[in-house]
Amino acid sequence: MDCIFCKISDGKAKADFVMNDGEVFAIRDVHPAAPTHILIIPRRHVPSLADITGKDDAELISKLVTTAVEVARKVSLAERGYRLVWNCRAEGGQTVGHIHLHLLGGRQMKWPPG
Ligand code: 5GP
Ligand code: ZN
Repeated sequence: MDCIFCKISDGKAKADFVMNDGEVFAIRDVHPAAPTHILIIPRRHVPSLADITGKDDAELISKLVTTAVEVARKVSLAERGYRLVWNCRAEGGQTVGHIHLHLLGGRQMKWPPG
């Protein structure tokens, strides 16, 4: 399977890691949409949020969110605030078919998003 996030997880492609232990890892987005833009990614290949089913997947989602909160603390965004984003499938704007959570911060976010 030709999946860039699986390759990064396996060490076959490079990335700027912010966290790299356990079942999820965090890397800086190669095309940042904010001063801080980090992707929280599970090692297990799940295509999208819409593919989540059952207890194991629910635990994975919980792990992704709690890791994002930890990473936000680590990069000093906890006090200022930040945004977590899941893009799901085509109309959700998802471009990489391996589930990931965006952590965006370092500027004032707008609402509604585009
Ligand atoms: P999506 O659009 O699927 O929600 O988010 C995918 C994100 O992955 C995009 O923000 C894109 O810039 C980022 N991205 C795509 N390929 C790579 C890569 O090879 N390395 C890193 N670090 N980010 C990537
Ligand atoms: Zn993958």
